[in-house]
Amino acid sequence: MSLSGRRRQTAGAARAAGVEALLVTHLPDVRWLCGFTGSNAALVLVCAGRMRAMLFTDGRYTAQAKAEATGVGVTIAANPALIAACEWLAETGVARCGFDDGNTTVADLNQMRKAVPAKLRRKMFEPVGWLVAKLRWVKYADEIAKMRAAAALGCRLFEGILATMQPGMTEDAVAAEMEFAARLAGAEAMSFPTIVASGERSALPHGRATDAKLPRRGFVTLDFGVVLDGYCSDMTRTVHMGRASAAERDVYDAVLEAQQAGVAAARAGAVTGDVDEAARSVLRKAGLAEWFTHSTGHGVGLEIHEGPRLATKQTQKLEAGMIVTIEPGVYLPGKFGVRIEDMVLVTAKGAEILTPCTKAWIEL
Ligand code: ZN
Ligand code: ZN
Repeated sequence: MSLSGRRRQTAGAARAAGVEALLVTHLPDVRWLCGFTGSNAALVLVCAGRMRAMLFTDGRYTAQAKAEATGVGVTIAANPALIAACEWLAETGVARCGFDDGNTTVADLNQMRKAVPAKLRRKMFEPVGWLVAKLRWVKYADEIAKMRAAAALGCRLFEGILATMQPGMTEDAVAAEMEFAARLAGAEAMSFPTIVASGERSALPHGRATDAKLPRRGFVTLDFGVVLDGYCSDMTRTVHMGRASAAERDVYDAVLEAQQAGVAAARAGAVTGDVDEAARSVLRKAGLAEWFTHSTGHGVGLEIHEGPRLATKQTQKLEAGMIVTIEPGVYLPGKFGVRIEDMVLVTAKGAEILTPCTKAWIEL
């Protein structure tokens, strides 16, 4: 879908929400709508009558905005971009403009109101929630291709690090090797600080890499992702150093079964809470549910954490084109933990795994 097609889709959603224009300030939303990747931006999309859009940024981005932002006007503002955007908005004759109240501070809203004439001030800005972000939940074909490539790179990093990991190596060194390989392979960045949690630390669901050494015997959880062409990948694998105990193996098998049940339950039309329950019920039967302390998954895209949430009692339905994670885990404090995470593409028939590297038991 072209960027102008995305803007038409967004304008339709804005009109349905009862506003004549949209003020977009969340940077991933700005990027999705016009291609601009700078760190300071406000985009006004006029949706009533003939659609038009104007991007506001500052002098650092003059050349970049011209090169990246396609099909929209560009204004290099002397004022803060947000204020310049609101002043321009007031001149268009628009009386009601939607804004993202999930990403706008109280101070921003006060500034926005001050930037428009007093007679417009009271009714101009209408909260419309995550209107653009929600449209981003369902990926277009070009986005799916980019995310496929990001996920595939993640798998190669995992396969590569297996040959390097050995007892005594620090978690930091494992993370550094993976991140170096990612950059060499073209990744812009990691999606988030790489999680390498070894031994007892594997019981920490978000144990960032430290100077702790990989044990001779024990689990190592690797949770990581790359940003490739703006899109994030996210995956987790847990491997075992040395020989495992029967208890460790049982927990691993239960988590794997839960993860596979979650993947099997995901398809267009499935309720997110039911996908969570499909994974959670496997761990309940194994007597481990109380140690599964987070939700089953989340959307991924330009941001590492997007909607929909796959969690208990969530009622949102999955749609074809959504890309979500399925990542149950079990964390036994002071002992060990296991998490297994795939990124999947939701289709009418089921869930296609975008991170197809092995989840079979690995002893290093
Ligand atoms: Zn993850
Ligand atoms: Zn995740």
